[in-house]
Amino acid sequence: MSRSAHPAGPRHADVLPEGHWTAPATDLNALDEKVWSRTVTRDADGALTVGGIEVARLAEEFGTPAYILDESDFRARCRAWADAFGADADVFYAGKAFLSRAVVRWLTEEGLNLDVCSGGELATALDAGMPVERIAFHGNNKTVAEIERAVSVGVGRIVLDSFQEIVRVAHIAQSLGKRQRVQIRVTVGVEAHTHEFIATAHEDQKFGIALAGGQAAEAVRRALTLDGLELVGIHSHIGSQIFDMAGFEVSARRVVQLLAEIRDEHGVELPEIDLGGGLGIAYTSEDDPREPHEIAKALGDIVTRECESAGLATPRISVEPGRAIVGPTAFTLYEVGTIKPLEGLRTYVSVDGGMSDNIRTALYDAEYSVSLVSRTSDAEPMLVRVVGKHCESGDIVVKDAFLPADLAPGDLIAVPATGAYCRSMASNYNHALRPPVVAVRDGRARVIVRRETEEDLLRLDVG
Ligand SMILES: *Cc1c(COP(=O)(O)O)cnc(C)c1O
Repeated sequence: MSRSAHPAGPRHADVLPEGHWTAPATDLNALDEKVWSRTVTRDADGALTVGGIEVARLAEEFGTPAYILDESDFRARCRAWADAFGADADVFYAGKAFLSRAVVRWLTEEGLNLDVCSGGELATALDAGMPVERIAFHGNNKTVAEIERAVSVGVGRIVLDSFQEIVRVAHIAQSLGKRQRVQIRVTVGVEAHTHEFIATAHEDQKFGIALAGGQAAEAVRRALTLDGLELVGIHSHIGSQIFDMAGFEVSARRVVQLLAEIRDEHGVELPEIDLGGGLGIAYTSEDDPREPHEIAKALGDIVTRECESAGLATPRISVEPGRAIVGPTAFTLYEVGTIKPLEGLRTYVSVDGGMSDNIRTALYDAEYSVSLVSRTSDAEPMLVRVVGKHCESGDIVVKDAFLPADLAPGDLIAVPATGAYCRSMASNYNHALRPPVVAVRDGRARVIVRRETEEDLLRLDVG
């Protein structure tokens, strides 16, 4: 985060954290291409269009709030990742960021693989025709039923997360007469968040098996002895919304070190390493994400160098971007309901959604930006907090931002970069009806996940 004096002047010093990124953009009508999906632009009247369609038309046809997903941008990002990593590596889209049958079909067509971490995600992937060998199954507590289904349909790999699971998967595979391809997820003692990482974080977390204390080496020892398992590699995932490649560097070095130990002890060179996901995106203009080709080059160089110095053949690398693919491809379209100016503080702008469609601000203190999209305005900037309609004062969508002072009820505003972990984490709090996901492409819009209805809610309530 930038640490310069607040450009809005001392009047805002008491309401915004010192050095906060938010400053009135020199032009509130400008759309920063870093945070908006690729086909977003303003038309001659100043209204925002995406995929060639004006937001007012989308609001009229599909209602608000709605997630508007730019399909050609999604596909372009898939291709960029696939091209960057090339034929000697694999890109797995992390389905938990956002998954639907349409998304699975786009991934399939664009040549990506898919990570799932529950029976529900697996069912969605299978239903939409993702080739089963391109699916990887994750999770720290997969149920026996989930493992049985994953093994019997023949998923490409299961990522083992605990000592119990090593035995459980081996047993299930054997009883089904199969040999399951598996990786072991290790915790490398690296914790990466945004611009920093900690290389000596202790392994106080629920995922994976620690490299420290010989735990991971012991897990490998056990997995190699079990007939139901074909151990193909080591997996490491170090965090989320990461910009600094140094965390991956430490992680890769430690994983390669384990591969060398495995070779020395067992005489086998495991053919795969997975470095996980977690690559950051721009939520605000302050964020500077890396392009897939830079990431591919950095990771490839690190692994090649470490393997050379350990005398190992370079293994097949895989990565698991979720947010970095789908995050920037969607924005949430809201209608402004009420506006409350609080003298000397800020103006509260209430929208027709909130923490039920975007929990990230409340959950992670996430930062977002917001723009007036149904028109442009030359009015002065006003400091706003965009809040939802839920019965909770923490129901905040955008903590601090500037919108034009002539904002009025009925205006459409949009929060960009909500493609990841918004619809997938949406809830029915206050019996909210979860918004639809509308895919736009080349002048056409279609619902890929429809809006919930009161009938949907009442169907589950058996009375
Ligand atoms: C969450 C997760 C990802 C994806 O993380 P992003 O931040 O969306 O890229 C990838 N791999 C694993 C194992 C994860 O748990």
